[in-house]
Amino acid sequence: MKILVIGSGGREHALVWKLAQSPHATQMWCVPGNAGIAQEHLAKNGAAVQCVNIGAEDLPGLLAFAQEKKVDFTVVGPDNPLALGIVDLFQANDLKIWGVNQKAAQFESSKVFSQKFMEKYGIPTAAAGTFSDAMAAKRFTATLGGKCVVKADGLALGKGVLICVNQAESEKAVDEIMVGKAFGAAGSRVVIQEFLEGAEVSLHALCDGRTAKIFPTSQDHKRALDGDLGLNTGGMGTYSPTPFLTDAQLAGTARQILEPFMRGCVAEGIDYRGLLYPGVMLTKNGPKILEFNARFGDPETQVYLTRLENDLVELLDASASGTLDKIELKWKPASSVCVVMASGGYPGNYPKGKVITGLDAANALPHTKVFHAGTVLKDGQIVTNGGRVLGVTALGGDLKSAQAAAYAVVDKIRFDGAHFRRDIAAKALRQKTGG
Ligand code: AMP
Repeated sequence: MKILVIGSGGREHALVWKLAQSPHATQMWCVPGNAGIAQEHLAKNGAAVQCVNIGAEDLPGLLAFAQEKKVDFTVVGPDNPLALGIVDLFQANDLKIWGVNQKAAQFESSKVFSQKFMEKYGIPTAAAGTFSDAMAAKRFTATLGGKCVVKADGLALGKGVLICVNQAESEKAVDEIMVGKAFGAAGSRVVIQEFLEGAEVSLHALCDGRTAKIFPTSQDHKRALDGDLGLNTGGMGTYSPTPFLTDAQLAGTARQILEPFMRGCVAEGIDYRGLLYPGVMLTKNGPKILEFNARFGDPETQVYLTRLENDLVELLDASASGTLDKIELKWKPASSVCVVMASGGYPGNYPKGKVITGLDAANALPHTKVFHAGTVLKDGQIVTNGGRVLGVTALGGDLKSAQAAAYAVVDKIRFDGAHFRRDIAAKALRQKTGG
C-alpha cells in the first residue's frame, strides 16, 4: 500500500513511525515532514520515507501529488486541512483518506457548534452560554460571578481561551475577543463556560461513523514551566496511562460521552470517521467536556502510539471503512512518557537553526524513541526549526521507570537554549504514592 501522511510535527512523526512498521506499507511520503521523519524506513522493504515540500494546507497541490503517485491511503495529522475539507476533496476524487470530513471537523473548528451539540445530546459539559452579542455575553458572565472561561468560537492557534476570575476580567475578555477582534473572525461568536476545577485528562477515541473505540487515558502538560506555571503552549509533555481514572471509570466515562456523541452525529447527518479527542475535566460532580478536537493530540500521539500493539494501517483503514467493530484495540501493559524539548523563548519568539547533538546516542537507547517536531536537515546537520523541537518518548514497566528513561534520553541531547519541563508525570507519581 502506498501511503501519504500530511503534516510535519511530532504527531506526524509518531504516525509515520508506527505506519512504517506495518507489513501493508510498501511506499510512504510525508508532506512536508521533518528531519526525523526523513530518517524512517519501512519494515517491509527498507524503503526510506520521503518528505516532499508541499504545504499541509495546499489542498490542490496535495490532491495532484496523491493522484500522480497513485497513493492508496492518505492519513491527515493536523486540524487545518481537515477544517478546509481535504477529506471531502479526496473522497470526491475517489482517493481513500483517513481523517474527519469538513462537517465533522466543525467539532473543533467551532466551539459554539460543539457546545450546542453537547447540550442537545446530553453530553456532560460545563454550564455555558453561546453569544454573538457582547452585551448579552457580559450579562451572562455576571450570572457566573465573573469566574468563567471566555472562548472564541473559531480556530485561534490554541490561544482563543481566556480564563477570568472576576467580572472586570470577564468583561475585558469579551471586549478583547468580540469587540477588539484579538483573534479575528474566530471571535465574532463566543462560548462562555463556568470555570471548572479538577484533574484535566485527554481522551482519544477512534470512530468509524457508527463505532467508537476508546484509548487509555493520557495527560498533557500545557503550561511552559514546571509546576504548571508560565504561558499556555501546544503541550510540553504527556504520559499514559494516568492514575486519575480506573479502567472501570474510563469505561463509564466513555459510555457517558461516546454513546450520545455517536447518536447525535447520526441524528445530525454527520459521518464521523476519524479521531475524536475530548478535553475532559474530572470534577467532583463527574467528568465534564471542555472541548472537542477532531484529530490526534500532539504530544498525546507519541505516548499512545508507543503503547499501541495493533497494526496502525489496519486500524485507520477500519476507521475510514466503517469496520472498526471487527477490531479490538491492544495496548502494551506499560507506561509511556513524552518530554517535549522546545526552543528557548517558546511559546513566544524563539530562534531557529540551532544544531542538535546527541541524537545518535539517544536513539541507541532501548525502549525509547525521539520523535521530531520542529527540525530540518541543513548542511548535513539536524537543526531546530520550530517552537517544539523534539518529543523524547520512553516506555517503562511503570510510570516512574518510563519517566526516568525519558529524562535519561533528554540529558543526552543538546541544542542552544533548549527548554523542557522537569516535572512531566510528576503529579501522577505524587498521586500514586499518596504524596
Ligand atoms: P480548550 O481549548 O477549550 O480546551 O481550553 C484550553 C484550556 O483552558 C484547557 O486545556 C483548560 O486547561 C482550560 N479550560 C478550558 N475550559 C475550562 C473550564 N470551563 N474550566 C476551567 N478551565 C478550562
